[in-house]
Amino acid sequence: MRNLFTIVVLLMVISASSTINAKDYLVANQKQYFEVSKNLKPGDIITLADGVWNNFEITLSAKGTADKPITLTAETAGKVIISGQSNLRIGGHHLIVSGLVFRDGYSPTGEVISFRRSKDDLAYNSRITEIVIDHFSKPDRFDNDYWVGIYGQNNRFDHNNLVGKTNKGVTLAVRLNSADSRENNHKIDHNYFGPRPALGSNGGETLRIGTSKFAQYNSNTIVENNYFDRCDGEVEIISSKSGGNILRGNIFFESSGTLTLRHGDNNLVERNIFLGNGKDHTGGIRVINKGQTVRHNYMEGLRGSGFASALTVMNGVPNSPVNRYVQVSDAKIIGNSVYDSDFITLAGGADAERSAPPIDSVMSGNLISAGDAGPVFRIQDDINGIAFSGNARIGAAHANHPDGIKTIKAKLVRAKNGLLYPRKSKFSKYGVPRDLKPITKEEVGASWYPKPAKANKFADGSPISISPSEGVVEKAISNAKGGDVITLGNGEYVVSKTMTIDKPITLKGSGQTKILFDRPSLFEIAEGGSLRLENLTIDGELAPDSVGNALIRTTSYPIQSNFLIEMERVQISNLSVNKFFDVIKLGKSTFADHVIIRDSQFKDISGSIILGASETEDYGQYNVEYADIQDSSFENIGGPIVNLYRGGRDESTFGPHFDLKNSKLVNVGLDKNNDSKSAIVLHGAQYSKILDNQFIASAPILVNHTVGRPQTRIAGNKFIATPKVNIAELNYEGEQRVILSDNVYEEGEKK
Ligand code: CA
Repeated sequence: MRNLFTIVVLLMVISASSTINAKDYLVANQKQYFEVSKNLKPGDIITLADGVWNNFEITLSAKGTADKPITLTAETAGKVIISGQSNLRIGGHHLIVSGLVFRDGYSPTGEVISFRRSKDDLAYNSRITEIVIDHFSKPDRFDNDYWVGIYGQNNRFDHNNLVGKTNKGVTLAVRLNSADSRENNHKIDHNYFGPRPALGSNGGETLRIGTSKFAQYNSNTIVENNYFDRCDGEVEIISSKSGGNILRGNIFFESSGTLTLRHGDNNLVERNIFLGNGKDHTGGIRVINKGQTVRHNYMEGLRGSGFASALTVMNGVPNSPVNRYVQVSDAKIIGNSVYDSDFITLAGGADAERSAPPIDSVMSGNLISAGDAGPVFRIQDDINGIAFSGNARIGAAHANHPDGIKTIKAKLVRAKNGLLYPRKSKFSKYGVPRDLKPITKEEVGASWYPKPAKANKFADGSPISISPSEGVVEKAISNAKGGDVITLGNGEYVVSKTMTIDKPITLKGSGQTKILFDRPSLFEIAEGGSLRLENLTIDGELAPDSVGNALIRTTSYPIQSNFLIEMERVQISNLSVNKFFDVIKLGKSTFADHVIIRDSQFKDISGSIILGASETEDYGQYNVEYADIQDSSFENIGGPIVNLYRGGRDESTFGPHFDLKNSKLVNVGLDKNNDSKSAIVLHGAQYSKILDNQFIASAPILVNHTVGRPQTRIAGNKFIATPKVNIAELNYEGEQRVILSDNVYEEGEKK
C-alpha cells in the first residue's frame, strides 16, 4: 500500500514538473522566434504577436509528444499576417500550427506550407489547422509551386482556407517520394478550397495525391468533408495517383473538372456531392485502374462532356506503362444519383492506344434522370465487362442507353438536405442514401476568415460623372476604386497618357461621347485590372506610329490574376497608323477569363480586334478562355479579327472557347502584311461556334485542330466573294472533326 502511494506521488511530481517546464513564449519579431524555436520541449507554445510579419521563412523543427505537442500559433487567430516572401516548413513529431494568414506575398521556394523542414526532416503526427493562404501566388503565372506539400505520416490538415491560387502548380499535394511518406494515413478534412481560376495550362489541379512514379504504393490518405468552391484550374480538380485513398463527403460546387482516379488501385470514392448549376465543364468522377469503388455519390446540373462527364469509366492501354492508362478492372459503381447532367461516358477515350475496355466491373443501384436533360451515354468501346443490375432511370431512355437500366415512373422531390430523391420509398433502393449530409461552407475552413462571395467585378463600386476637359479621364481612372463606373458626358476627350487599369473599371459614354488618344496605347491592363467599355466612340487618328500599337494592351510584366475585357455599343476606328495596330493585344503570361464584344462596330483597323496568340511555346498555354463576339461589324480590318493560339499536345485545359454570332465582316484579313491570309485564325481552340454571320469580300476562316476532341461548328453563315473555310487536323488521322451546315457561298464582286 505504501509503495503504491509512493508511486502515485512520484507520478504527480513528474507530471507537475514537466508542466512547469513547458513554456509559453510570446515573440514579437523573427529574431526572438528563431531564438526560442531552437530549443523547444514537449508542451511548449510559441505565440506570434499580432501584426504583419514580412519576409518570414518560418521553420519549426521539434519533437513533441502525443500528450504534449509543440504549438505555433497566433496571438489572435487571423491577426498574424505573414506577407512578402514567406513560407512555413515543419519537421519532427507532434507539432501543431494554427491561426496564421498568408497574404500579400508569395513563397520564395517551391511551397508555401511544407510538412517537411528538409529532405531528412519530415513531419509526423502533426497538424496544421485554421491557416489561411489567400492569393499568395507567385507573380508569374507559369512560375510553379505547391501551396501545401504534405510529407511524412499521420499528419492532419484541417479547417484551412486556400483561396485564389493563380500560378501553376497543385494547390495541395500529398507526396509519396520517400518510403517515410507512404501509407501515410494523412487526413485532409474540413478545408475550404476557394475559387481557383482557370490557369490556361496544365498544373492547375486543386489536390493531388501521389504521382505516376509512385503510383504502385498505397497512400492511404483520407480526404473528407472538404468544400471545393469554383475550383476551375484545369480538367482535374482532384487527381488521385496512388492507392488506398478514401475521398468521402466532399462538395464540389460549380467547379469545372472532375475527381479523377488517375493512377493507383483500390480507392474509395463515396458520398461526395457534385453541384454544377449548369456551369460549363462541371464534371463528376473519372475511373481508371483496378479495384476502384465509387458509391453513393450525388451529381446534379453537370455540363461536362468527354473526360469531364458526370461519370467516366475509361478504356485502358494493354500492359500500360504507369504513366498511361491502366485498364479498368473490378470497378464497383454503386448507388450513385445522376440528375440533370449531360453525359455518362463508358469505355471513354477508346482509340488505337487505349484499346482495353473495362472488365470484371459492376454498375448497380444507380439512379439517373433522363428526359431532355440527359444524361446521354457515350459508349466508346465494348462494355460487356461491366455487369449492370438494378439500375433505374426516370424518364425515357435515350437511344444509346445500355441494357440493365430499368425505367421507373418516379417524381423527384427535394429533401431537407437539399438533394433530390424519388418521392416514393419503394424506389429508395436506387441512388444515394437519405442520410447524405452536404457539408456547408460554414462548417469548413477557418471560421474567423471570410469566404469570397460571388462578385460582379464591374458592379461593386460607385458612379462617377465627368465632362470634357484636359486630363479628366486620366484623373478619373487613377482616382477610381475597383468596380467604379465612370460616365463620360457628351463631347470629345483627348487622352494624352496610356492609362493603367489595375482595378475593374467601367467607362461609359452618353451617346455622343468620343475619345481620342495621342499615345501608342489608350489602356494598359495591369495586375488586378479589368475593363468594360460601353456606349463610346474611340478614334485612333491622333495615335503616333509605334511598334506594338494597341488600343488595349497588357503590361509587359506577367499578370497573376485573370482579367475581363468587355465592350458593348462601342465604335472603334482609324487604328491604322502602322501595319499592325490591334484593338486588344494580350501579352505573354497574361490570361483573360473572357473578352466579350456586343453590338459594336470596328472600322479601318490594320491589325486584329482580339489578338490572343502570345503563348507560342506549344506547352498547351493560351491567352483567353472565352472570346465571344455577337451582333457586331468589322470593316476594312487588315489582320484576322480574332487570332487565338494554343499549341502543343497537352490535354488538361478546357479552352480556348470562341463564339462569333450574328456579325458582319467586310474586307477583313486581306492586308498584304497579314501572314495568316485569314479573317479568323483559331489554332488549338477546343470549342468554336461561328454561327449566322456574313463574310463579304474577306479572307477565309482558318481552323487548326490540335489535340483533344475539338468541337467546331460553322453554320448558317453567308460567304460572299469569300473563299471556303480552311480546316486542318494536325494530330488526328480520321475525318475532319467539324460540323459545317447551312452555309451559303455566293460569288460577288471582289474588293
Ligand atoms: Ca493535370
